[in-house]
Amino acid sequence: MIAKRTIHDLALDGRRVFIRVDFNVPIRDGVIGDDTRIRAALPTLQHALDRGATVVLGSHLGRPNGQATPTFSLKPVAAHLEQVLGRPVVFAEDCVGAPVKTALGQVGSGRVVLLENLRFHPGEEGNDREFARQLAESADCYVNDAFGAAHRAHASTAGILNHLHDAAAGLLMAAELRHLGGLLSKPSRPFVAILGGAKVSGKLEVIDNLLGRVDALLVGGAMAYTFFLAQGHPVGRSLVETDLLETTRRILADAAKRGVQLALPRDHVVAPSLDGDATHETLAVDDPAIGDRMGVDIGPATVARYAEVIANAKTIVWNGPMGVFEVEPFAPGTVAVAKAVAHSAARSIVGGGDSVSAIGRAGVADAITHISTGGGASLELLGGRTLPGVDVLPDAGEGVD
Ligand code: AMP
Repeated sequence: MIAKRTIHDLALDGRRVFIRVDFNVPIRDGVIGDDTRIRAALPTLQHALDRGATVVLGSHLGRPNGQATPTFSLKPVAAHLEQVLGRPVVFAEDCVGAPVKTALGQVGSGRVVLLENLRFHPGEEGNDREFARQLAESADCYVNDAFGAAHRAHASTAGILNHLHDAAAGLLMAAELRHLGGLLSKPSRPFVAILGGAKVSGKLEVIDNLLGRVDALLVGGAMAYTFFLAQGHPVGRSLVETDLLETTRRILADAAKRGVQLALPRDHVVAPSLDGDATHETLAVDDPAIGDRMGVDIGPATVARYAEVIANAKTIVWNGPMGVFEVEPFAPGTVAVAKAVAHSAARSIVGGGDSVSAIGRAGVADAITHISTGGGASLELLGGRTLPGVDVLPDAGEGVD
């Protein structure tokens, strides 16, 4: 992956910088829930402020579908940001036009403006040229720190660069690219990937791309059941994608051909429903006693086997839970994998909301090398795609044209 110009390469003193951030945080009754995404952008904001810039922050929040919708207003984020940043933040009631000019007039020595939700305008997701031009009017240069939105070519992540050529990646974006890009280009071996979650289909590209790079691929979650069905194991009412049976056979053959260890669960927890109060038991994956029950977590023998592979790894990437971990009795497999990843001495990169929340739940976030803030974007990178929001940023060493 080509290194990108970063905020360190930008002249900032006395200039206005538009920073695209990902402040898409949960808000209920005006109160911010998890503020991880706000905090993740602080190093970039602080850097720009320390270098003497005035900062104009743009973000999306939820899916207002191009309409100004009060429940999706970023106003509560302005108040929260003031607290965590320790300086005044002026909120602009719109992200383009007169309200932005007014806010910039009021900014004073605090030097931070937060624009209203970019997606209140259809031009944002439509990557409209005129809307991008209006956004660009508020600044002299551009920084993209919204890794979580970099897989979308929107006005604030792509079109705006037609108008603000002096551009760079923010510190969070640069860290994400360094970790995820470095992982794929020169991993220390053994390189182990752990993939789980609901569907094979959502991770097909990732599986295909990783098979050419990893030494072992550990599969968990509902994903495993399509493989089991293809192998003739009883799957009961487990979640399967019957249209992917041929695909899973091809994946298994591909792994064998490449000498990649593709590990599937040996035992699993089966339950009559996803109700946590239902009685459940652990069975071998080929045990027909599953009947019409469903597989909801990996079992202890699988955990032990996966933990062994994880302990010997030098590089680990993990995306997707090993079971229905949202339901307490079906969480142990995922939590055990989180702990195994944390205890290993390997460079570990975890992405995807569920795996990240499992890491938090296991209390081991500090022992992970890099926790990715962008689920969709990290999957696309692992799938070998270039991200449009990254592609348009100037390469390292490139000047301003
Ligand atoms: P994904 O977004 O594809 O990573 O899928 C995450 C979802 O997969 C979580 O909500 C899990 O509850 C779900 N999941 C994981 N394992 C299973 C399983 N064995 N059966 C049904 N759902 C599962």
